[in-house]
Amino acid sequence: MNDNNKDWPELVSGRGSHLAEVKAYYGKYQDNKRKEEFAHALQLVEEKIKALRDKTPNLPYSKTKLAEVEINKFFYEGETVDRVMIVLRSNGCQHYKKNGGCSMCAHLNGSPLMDKITHANYVEQWNSVLDGSFIEKEGSFNLNDYPVVCIYNLGSLLNEEEISKKTIEYIFSTLNEYKGVKKVIIESRAEYVKDDMLKVIRDVYDGVVEVGIGVESTDRTIRQLCHHKDIDDDRIFKTACDTLHKFNMKALAYVNFKPIFLTEQEAISDAIYTSVNCFKKYGFDAVSIEPTSLQENSLANHMYILGQYRVPWLWSLRDIIHGIYDRLEKQDLDIRLGGYFDEEVLSGSQGTGFGDRNEIFPHMTSSNCSHCTQNFVEHIKKFNMTYDVKDLDEVEPCKYCYSIWQDTKNIRDSRDIIQRIDDLFGRK
Ligand code: SF4
Ligand SMILES: [Zn+2]
Repeated sequence: MNDNNKDWPELVSGRGSHLAEVKAYYGKYQDNKRKEEFAHALQLVEEKIKALRDKTPNLPYSKTKLAEVEINKFFYEGETVDRVMIVLRSNGCQHYKKNGGCSMCAHLNGSPLMDKITHANYVEQWNSVLDGSFIEKEGSFNLNDYPVVCIYNLGSLLNEEEISKKTIEYIFSTLNEYKGVKKVIIESRAEYVKDDMLKVIRDVYDGVVEVGIGVESTDRTIRQLCHHKDIDDDRIFKTACDTLHKFNMKALAYVNFKPIFLTEQEAISDAIYTSVNCFKKYGFDAVSIEPTSLQENSLANHMYILGQYRVPWLWSLRDIIHGIYDRLEKQDLDIRLGGYFDEEVLSGSQGTGFGDRNEIFPHMTSSNCSHCTQNFVEHIKKFNMTYDVKDLDEVEPCKYCYSIWQDTKNIRDSRDIIQRIDDLFGRK
């Protein structure tokens, strides 16, 4: 090291005693080393995800038929109402196409990769909702019968690269005629929540709109390395909430519970911390905790096959809800447990996925043991219709698995996440 190096503290070069400078120098050295290790771990995860994506079959879906339509129950303004979930066959998530997507997601399984869905294709799909012609089983369908309507595109509905403004304008302009529809829920990554797209919606539709945004975790290391979310700076979540509120829209945060590489207890703590941040730091109106489920061709599924991952325990959900309520003064928060509904699929089982089910359905969801899972799921459904944690507390400990879950929560891993990734994927 020579004296000309301005970064090198004087103590070392014999020009005086400046301990603070020495510490700062080593701090910077450590920071740089840490950044390199972080970048390397991210690269390992991304390479693994991309390798799995390369093996994903490219299926020839009809461009004019919806991916799926299902009906389930939803808690809205103190009442349990019918909700219809409409999944457009779409061009697929841009993050997925570019970087391999998130570690727990394989929604691209449901998009025709070699084809482009045009405005005319989307219009045809949407019109089949309005005239009810999409329905594959006996019976009729009227959008007006559903107070809550979800319109999903297996990606971001606010991203112009995935779906054009013209298409969004068309879909929302038709909704004004359906006065039975009280709330429309769409999904988007935070970076696409922008004035111009929201204005397109607001210019043609004045009803309640809620936008679900994948936050997953507010811990940067977990979000970037475990979820592979490609959102480095969490300030974008606050910006997205503020933008939505400016257009009188509601902001819903998706919090993924138990990404890969975390122990059960780490995942519980992360879901609590993240949910509290979503309400307090960013200003979300609602939080949906999404326990990891397994779709074919996802990295989470790959880890499960390797014996390196177990879906989260349902018992843990109780800890999470209590943890959130304990940390927030308000107890009547809009907190949902995602993925647990009595659903009726009206259309969409094209038989190309696991066990002849829809290609985007998971083949495994979070669970306890075979003796008590179904009972717990019934209590989750109850909770989702009341948001009252007592509905979860009522479940008696199961003699077969409760103590196993407690033991699982005691498992500690002394390695940091970077080391865990390196141990799994870094060695040739
Ligand atoms: S979770 Fe959302 S952002 Fe992530 S890959 Fe799936 S669709 Fe894309
Ligand atoms: Zn059990």
